[in-house]
Amino acid sequence: MIEHVERIFSSIKKTAIACNRDPESVKLVAVSKTVTADRVRQAITSGITILGENYVQEALEKITTLSSEAVSWHFIGHLQSNKAKVAVNLFDLIHTVDSLKLAKELNKEAQKLGKIQDILIQVNIAREASKSGIEPEAAESLIESISHLDHLMIQGLMTMPPFLDDPERIRPYFKTLRELRDRIRAHDLPHVNMNELSMGMSHDYIVAIEEGATLVRVGSAIFGSRM
Ligand SMILES: *Cc1c(COP(=O)(O)O)cnc(C)c1O
Repeated sequence: MIEHVERIFSSIKKTAIACNRDPESVKLVAVSKTVTADRVRQAITSGITILGENYVQEALEKITTLSSEAVSWHFIGHLQSNKAKVAVNLFDLIHTVDSLKLAKELNKEAQKLGKIQDILIQVNIAREASKSGIEPEAAESLIESISHLDHLMIQGLMTMPPFLDDPERIRPYFKTLRELRDRIRAHDLPHVNMNELSMGMSHDYIVAIEEGATLVRVGSAIFGSRM
């Protein structure tokens, strides 16, 4: 595992430098869905500092087991409003907010905890029926509405583009997300930072970094393929 982690850190660094970006501006989120706590611990020993989980219950068990580890946990799965409370308790960043209803629920729970919850807005960049996320043309108005919620901070955008074997064919979707981010950032809304772009997975994170990704979500290239 340590070889995998080191190889990915070094390719992130190399890619960032090659496109004149600060290597520190790209963070690696190790996606640990279905991975046991023991193997997550190995990843942490190998230098991983951010873990991404897709399922609240699975994450709760793992985070409890690994509570002594100084790492950050991100939520990257589809989040139901009725799980908002647990999610706010567990996660430093929730990548997948795509409705005002969910945002209001998160805001309410964050307020109870006296926390400002960092979130990303998930955008369905290719308008695929099978995917979660707000349609790109509706993203600006959703963000405007969420910007009135005091206990949320919108840190940027996230996307899951169509899966295509050739990462070059995914590049236009990454670029579109970055342009959308830049447009929204120019509005300077309250509680909106828009610095983060969560995009790129095991097979396309290099192209994503070239297009501005600040958070790459890598699972199988670290932990091996999932069963
Ligand atoms: C599983 C998952 C990943 C990681 O995918 P890999 O191809 O294993 O790197 C990234 N993002 C999300 C939202 C996922 O569900």
